[in-house]
Amino acid sequence: MLTSLLKIHLIDGESMKILVAVKRVIDYNVKVRVKADNTDVDLANVKMAMNPFCEIAVEEAVRLKEKGVATEIVVVSIGPKVAQEQIRTSLALGADRGILVETEEKLESLTVAKILKAIVDKEQPQLVILGKQSIDNDNNQTGQMLGALTGMAQGTFASEVVVEGDKVNVTREIDSGLRTVGLTLPAIVTSDLRLNEPRYASLPNIMKAKRKPLEVVTTSDLGVEVKSTQTLVKVTPPAERSAGIKVASVDELVEKLKNEAKVL
Ligand code: AMP
Repeated sequence: MLTSLLKIHLIDGESMKILVAVKRVIDYNVKVRVKADNTDVDLANVKMAMNPFCEIAVEEAVRLKEKGVATEIVVVSIGPKVAQEQIRTSLALGADRGILVETEEKLESLTVAKILKAIVDKEQPQLVILGKQSIDNDNNQTGQMLGALTGMAQGTFASEVVVEGDKVNVTREIDSGLRTVGLTLPAIVTSDLRLNEPRYASLPNIMKAKRKPLEVVTTSDLGVEVKSTQTLVKVTPPAERSAGIKVASVDELVEKLKNEAKVL
């Protein structure tokens, strides 16, 4: 019933709302430090930023609005109060309004997906765009879990998104080339690296973003219980790379590859 109502709405060309999920993560330029006791990554005084795949998701929504396909872009982030920064950045990039689901809890993907489902139920977007992956935990599963919880069609790892009427065609990069799937709206798309190149926010738009609406809600407002099924056992940094050596000849290189590196 809801799906057919949304279809009629879109065919009429009246409105198309896009919901974009953005996550606050360690800035991708920062060299990640692990706590001395190996219990987690050390976040003290570390520069945080929007997850790069989420930036791509916001950019895609903004482009769809600029093309006249979308009429409203709502951005949601789930995390601490400071995650408002990533929402404000999204608003400066062109989103219309933000929702912060404020929590200090450590969240598993299934909980994030349940929270996003509650927001989807409330907002009823025709398209939900997420990053394909968070660069802090590399989970690559929130969009898929949201697909399962909502029953919405999903196109993951999108490198092209084309909305036509009540359908969205999502081109996906796979090992053997490209695969395009047609989804009936409402649908979920997760963004891959080559979907677009995100723009930078201009100073006037950063100023304008300060006046755009940003609603703050809690998980209990949404009726979602935050619970953990996992514990983080250990975090270890990658092994330090040993210094390279110079070889005098090809023969010496082959000898070392055979007898020291044992890769030949
Ligand atoms: P993941 O499954 O953790 O790799 O994350 C995939 C995508 O889910 C991210 O790029 C975001 O679009 C979304 N997501 C994950 N965690 C959050 C969060 N705390 N707040 C908002 N969006 C999130």
